[in-house]
Amino acid sequence: MAKTILPDLLSMPDCSSLSDNGKCKRLNVTKCRGEKCPFKKSNEEENVSRERSFLRIMSLDKSKQIHIAKKYFSGNMPWESFDKKSFNI
Ligand code: SF4
Repeated sequence: MAKTILPDLLSMPDCSSLSDNGKCKRLNVTKCRGEKCPFKKSNEEENVSRERSFLRIMSLDKSKQIHIAKKYFSGNMPWESFDKKSFNI
C-alpha cells in the first residue's frame, strides 16, 4: 500500500485558495508559495474583493453587465442577488 504524505496545513498560510490537500486552487503551481505569496487572500479578504467587484459591475450599464456575465459567469449575474446594504465594505 502506498503511503500518502499529507502537507502540514497548519504551517501553511490562511488563504482561501488553499485546498484540503495543500494545493493551490488559484495559481498553476505545484506547491503553495507560503506567507509571502502576493496572491494570498483570507476568506474575509476574498469576500470583500468579490463584493467590490460586484459593486463595480453593478455600476455599469446593463449591456456591459450582460457581456461580463456571458464571458465570465456562464451567463449568470450573481451580483443581482446581492443587496448593496449587506456588503461589508
Ligand atoms: S498563498 Fe498563494 S500559492 Fe498559496 S494557496 Fe494562496 S494563492 Fe495559492
